[in-house]
Amino acid sequence: MGLWKSRSIKRIKLRLGDRPIECLSTEYKGSRADHLWKCKMCGKTWESTPNSVLNEDGGCPYCGTDRTIKANLSRGLRKLE
Ligand SMILES: [Zn+2]
Repeated sequence: MGLWKSRSIKRIKLRLGDRPIECLSTEYKGSRADHLWKCKMCGKTWESTPNSVLNEDGGCPYCGTDRTIKANLSRGLRKLE
């Protein structure tokens, strides 16, 4: 079970390729569950789903332009408070 989860995180990292985004989550919770991401460009972190980051061309909500991520970000920030 743990192996499956870490494998999925590895797959996320593979899918990210040379994009300036890092997945900080160590446990895979599903493509539609929030995970923690870090932007290598500005160093900020945010929560979003692998689905939006990997499939919807989601970028950093701070220095990127993706609207989907921005919607997820406001949701994530409320949850962190
Ligand atoms: Zn950024």
